Amino acid sequence: MDRRFLTQDPHFEAGRWEANMVGARGCPYDCSFCGAAVSANPDVTIRVRRPGNVVAEMEYLRDSLGVTAFRFVDDLFLGAKRVITSMMTGFSRAHVGDWAVWDATGRINVLHRVDDTTLDLLVANGLREVALGIESGSERVLAYIDKRITQDMIRSVVRRLVTRGINVKGYFIVGFPTETRAEMAQTVDLVRQLWDLTDSAPGRFRSSVFEFRPYPGTPEWGRLLATGLYTPEQLLDYTAVDLTDQGVDEGMRQRDEFNFSSNIQFGEASVDEVRAALVTLSHGEHERRVAA
Ligand code: SF4
Repeated sequence: MDRRFLTQDPHFEAGRWEANMVGARGCPYDCSFCGAAVSANPDVTIRVRRPGNVVAEMEYLRDSLGVTAFRFVDDLFLGAKRVITSMMTGFSRAHVGDWAVWDATGRINVLHRVDDTTLDLLVANGLREVALGIESGSERVLAYIDKRITQDMIRSVVRRLVTRGINVKGYFIVGFPTETRAEMAQTVDLVRQLWDLTDSAPGRFRSSVFEFRPYPGTPEWGRLLATGLYTPEQLLDYTAVDLTDQGVDEGMRQRDEFNFSSNIQFGEASVDEVRAALVTLSHGEHERRVAA
């Protein structure tokens, strides 16, 4: 629990001291683009901390540093029904929801399987925001990247969470290999639909959109090399991308996502078209934040 070398941790935000936490390590899924995918990490054993151990660290941070907000930065914390059940049993026993709020990563297919009582338990135990990889508005692309979720699952889970007051941060990617222009447009549409679907709900939905880039060791990396069209050096030739119009564009300056790219067209849409979609959605998100 020695945090001396963690800069800005804890930090003060929105009226609370907030600390980062790690509750689990590794991810059992194999999304084709992701550096945390199981096949890209054969040496990482997936491990989840015991609930009592997690709660003890939270209580220590409360008692020693006044921390009452936590962000679980794991690749996938709420990643299995049994993890959610055992973690929430431990949180309930310690009455975590009486004094803390926390944010975590989750998965659409897992949350789709849990019943309303479990979602209510997450609320009672202080879940403030869940970050979910949604990635695409196209069923074909979701299957291509092995996401194991569907459009119906996405809408249902986001609706069930925000109606309970749980905020949702949805991650999206544009410019996937093999993605058509129409499929990229479906992603833009899906984000807009989720904004509309959740506008009057007590929980907030926000989107975080990235341009696809290939990471070494991922399933997608192998597929791209197998086409014979690219060398590893080309795929790794990332450059920083300025989406702010040289700092002028306020909406893009507020983005907290990192922007870098290999500047290669992987789908039907050109790099400029992919960036235009990204900028459109980021502006929409900025306008919603300003209006809120
Ligand atoms: S995107 Fe999420 S669920 Fe998929 S492999 Fe990465 S961490 Fe796991």
